[in-house]
Amino acid sequence: MTADFAEPLLLWYDRNARELPWRQSKDPYRVWISEIMLQQTRAQAVIPYYERFLLSLPDVKALAACPDDELMKLWEGLGYYSRARNLKKAALVIEEKYEGRFPETADELVKLPGIGEYTAGAIASIAFGEAVPAVDGNVLRVMARLTDDPRNILEPAVKKYFTELLKEHGPREPFAFGNLNQAFMDLGSLICLPGDKPQCEGCPVRRVCLAAARGTASVLPVRIKKTGKRRELRTVFIFRSGEKIAVRKRKNEGLLAGLYEFPNTEGRLTEEEAALYAENLGFSADAVKALPAARHVFSHVTWEMTGYEIRVLGDAEGVIFAEPKRIEEQYPIPSAFAAYAKACNIRVGAGKNKGEKA
Ligand code: SF4
Repeated sequence: MTADFAEPLLLWYDRNARELPWRQSKDPYRVWISEIMLQQTRAQAVIPYYERFLLSLPDVKALAACPDDELMKLWEGLGYYSRARNLKKAALVIEEKYEGRFPETADELVKLPGIGEYTAGAIASIAFGEAVPAVDGNVLRVMARLTDDPRNILEPAVKKYFTELLKEHGPREPFAFGNLNQAFMDLGSLICLPGDKPQCEGCPVRRVCLAAARGTASVLPVRIKKTGKRRELRTVFIFRSGEKIAVRKRKNEGLLAGLYEFPNTEGRLTEEEAALYAENLGFSADAVKALPAARHVFSHVTWEMTGYEIRVLGDAEGVIFAEPKRIEEQYPIPSAFAAYAKACNIRVGAGKNKGEKA
């Protein structure tokens, strides 16, 4: 991974930051209200609620003194009313324990009702200039892609890892970290969109993004809720010899028993390791090209796949070379390999491999 994401991201933010009403001041109260409203709602939808709220309750004192019914009325339409109740609870703590002064560090802020690590980081960095990250789902998605990290972002240890990485490589100048946090928010909302929608062409950190380079962005980040399902990383090879493609028969027992497959192995191999793998099989490997990542979900295991197309010379034990059309007609390839079959014009799956079992 690259430590070079902060500078281009900050430059981009400098020129392209979204104009949002809460960005017009560094008042911690305003940052706080906006961050809480933004937790479940898109920025554009939050604007009218935010403006109305600030007009009625312009500061912590007013919020702490606001009757509950009035507060709920102001929150009406935003949903998740516990957020509004926690706002008032926290306002009362600030009034009573901190004599009306907002705590200034993330460590203190996180002790207030309704303020988690993300919100504490956002307020401390934006309003008080503390060099702390604000890590939410957007940031985890972008970081997992920048580093091409296939680990599960729902694991606390993975979140901690990215938080530390940001701390280590983020800027040190006062308030620059706040800008970096907001740049991540904008990048995640506008460009590094979830699923297969990242807009890598216009991305300011494309040059340093490993997922963009390796074609893995659409399957990152990995989010696995604990279901007991196993995850397996695999590397799939399209070995080409002239017009022919390599396939081999799977074992007669276990997953996809007796079907054919493109040679593949456990783990996520780099380009160099992929060439070495081909050579260890007995091929002489020529040009190596990375293929897009793919995922296949079986009933009890998920394959997270990366792939390489490699021009080879020679033979390898158990490997059959055949033209795509012949493979389509003669060798049943399970749909788990559909993404890679498509890369060499072979149709698989639906209707072709009846009886396929995981
Ligand atoms: Fe996301 Fe693509 Fe930018 Fe990488 S290059 S951070 S995947 S939008």
